[in-house]
Amino acid sequence: MGLLQLGTPLKWEEAKGTAAQVREWGIEQLLTIWRKNKDQERAVLLWGDEVEYLVIAVDESHQKVRLSLSQAEVLQALAENEELAKHGSMVPDLQGGEKAKNDCTLPTFHPEFGRFMLESTPGKPWSIDFKDLLEVERDMKQRRVIAKQHMAKDQYPVTLTTFPRLGTKDDFITPYYPPSGPALRSQFVPDEIANPHIRFPTLAANIRSRRGRKVELNVPVFKDEKTPWPFHDPTVDYDMHNWPEDDDVRNGAAKENHVYMDAMAFGMGSCCLQITFQAKNINEGRRLYDQLSPLGPILLALTAATPIYKGFLVDTDVRWNQISRAVDDRTREELGEAPLKNDRWRIPKSRYASNSTYIAEDPRLRPEYLDPDLVVDEDLKQKLVSGGMDDRLATHFAHLFIRDPLVVFSEDLQTLDVNGSNHFENLQSTNWQHMRFKPPPPDNPSIGWRVEFRSMEIQMTDFENAAFSIFIVLLSRVILSFDLNLYIPIPRTTENMETAHRRNALLDDKFWFRKDPFPQKTTPSASPFLRPQGTQPQPPDLDQNLGVNGTTDVTAASTSAAPTSDLPPVEEEYSLHTVSEIINGPGPGTSTSTNQFPGLIALVQHYLSSLNLSVTTRCQIERYLDLIARRADGSLWTNAKWIRQYVSQHPEYKHDSAVNEQVTYDLIKTLVEEIEPREDWSSKQGLGWEMFEVGG
Ligand code: ADP
Ligand code: MG
Ligand code: MG
Ligand code: MG
Ligand code: MG
Ligand code: MG
Repeated sequence: MGLLQLGTPLKWEEAKGTAAQVREWGIEQLLTIWRKNKDQERAVLLWGDEVEYLVIAVDESHQKVRLSLSQAEVLQALAENEELAKHGSMVPDLQGGEKAKNDCTLPTFHPEFGRFMLESTPGKPWSIDFKDLLEVERDMKQRRVIAKQHMAKDQYPVTLTTFPRLGTKDDFITPYYPPSGPALRSQFVPDEIANPHIRFPTLAANIRSRRGRKVELNVPVFKDEKTPWPFHDPTVDYDMHNWPEDDDVRNGAAKENHVYMDAMAFGMGSCCLQITFQAKNINEGRRLYDQLSPLGPILLALTAATPIYKGFLVDTDVRWNQISRAVDDRTREELGEAPLKNDRWRIPKSRYASNSTYIAEDPRLRPEYLDPDLVVDEDLKQKLVSGGMDDRLATHFAHLFIRDPLVVFSEDLQTLDVNGSNHFENLQSTNWQHMRFKPPPPDNPSIGWRVEFRSMEIQMTDFENAAFSIFIVLLSRVILSFDLNLYIPIPRTTENMETAHRRNALLDDKFWFRKDPFPQKTTPSASPFLRPQGTQPQPPDLDQNLGVNGTTDVTAASTSAAPTSDLPPVEEEYSLHTVSEIINGPGPGTSTSTNQFPGLIALVQHYLSSLNLSVTTRCQIERYLDLIARRADGSLWTNAKWIRQYVSQHPEYKHDSAVNEQVTYDLIKTLVEEIEPREDWSSKQGLGWEMFEVGG
């Protein structure tokens, strides 16, 4: 969650008055970073994943599972054992001793918003080497082993996006604290649910104060045969009088036929899977940012894993909008619910939302693709432009900087360190869009411009988490190698994000996608897929690894795009597709006259074929691609569908949408038993594979 510094945080009333100063200083810092690094070239591709866990305590004697507020203890135990760990004695080798002990790079563990959460990353970023790719799954499994080793006997790291009974009336956390504290003022969860570091309660409290009421999450309940209808969330208490915010529900905050939640923890307490790429230079980073952006909602649908909130099956499959609402600090004026008087503008999206800008200097980026509703701080943009930044990148940052800083430390306001990044990061790291463009950190000059892909849901098994990580990495190579053009108008991506929420959207809904993603066919050989039959495709100069030589710089070629007057209307460039069409290509009987797109998997296969990989390597990668392909065509289930099925077949489930303690216990117990890392664990066993077969 970005920076964790110590200091005296200002309450919202004081912080508010410092917003303009923080923004201006942040822009100064950004300009310094940009000037120092805009011409920087990095020879190497590096990338890394972030895996988030819930810590769940399993109480066998009471047949009860609870969220364990043990983040600090687990992190402390990990820190204390670092020396031991370095010598490898506590690191089980899941591959049967092939890996030399002194070769071990230990993973890193980080705190997260929820005091029941942990995050892990590889000990160092993955390199360009193809054999690194094959380490990812093992590494993720090893991280789970290490995490488990530093927990109490009854505690387990579980990669569910959300705890099914977070916020119910029973004792769903351990140790137990009753709800309704001064920071969150939630009627469902206590303040102790959040990481106690001062940054987190301050963030939650200032979001609530700025907004003028509690955050509001209403998720449509899944209507089952016996669900009482209309549905009124039975856990809502209309008679609480601890805080002024207790009026929210009396003023209609809880909506009929919805599960109602009222605190940041219901969103930021969710686990996700994020991938960060280092680009070789700023331009490649900007290109990756744009081209990966339309894939965000597609991967969100493919990784759907969130069918339960607060003890009820809901009618949505993913976490995204809940996090969005859980940190939505917009006032009534900004939301358009009251006339603009005190605030500067109406703001269409929460700080946590799908991204609203394209940033590449790509001649294929037509003005029609940009977001017509983009709000930009023109004064700050002018400062960036005067400082030498181009209009497009300045627009991006001036858009992020329409927000107020939420956590301001008084110590930081005394002098500006223009070589620092604290004020810049204050805004940057509280703009949680589905893509993030990360400038090099001033305190670590070895790190380059990076792009983060943020939409994916965490998966229950490390096999799946590795598969999705590797798929995105391969797609990034495909995008660069084939110079793909995936541009669609930003509002279509926003719409796709909404679509991805619908129950079973992966199979039942269609998503906007570009019909022809290949570069302008100025020469017949521009696309390996559009050549006369019988000739061999010749992909660009590709090396045996994922590295520099594997990514041709085609910027020059793509600048020769057709003049605007020759271009078709933007609306003809994209159409609605199933995820399977996007991933697997048009099925039999699908007309290819308007869509020559072979599917993303075929592009990845083509890329792999050009690399002369060993049969073993190729086979390993195929296992991952197979998961993606079969997830897309419905022959393997999403985690969301599997969990729904588990609940609906449980003898204790009454088909009334309620997921009770027993069902939750059995669900988590199943996961823990199947996924609990063992030395003999292999991806073909347990949940890693068969359980997602249809009917399995
Ligand atoms: P945040 O929480 O701010 O998104 P983290 O530090 O938790 O960031 O994770 C960033 C990820 O990026 C990690 O997986 C890490 O391995 C990876 N990473 C670190 N340095 C680089 C780099 N130079 N290039 C690419 N990825 C990197
Ligand atoms: Mg995280
Ligand atoms: Mg992180
Ligand atoms: Mg971080
Ligand atoms: Mg109970
Ligand atoms: Mg991250």
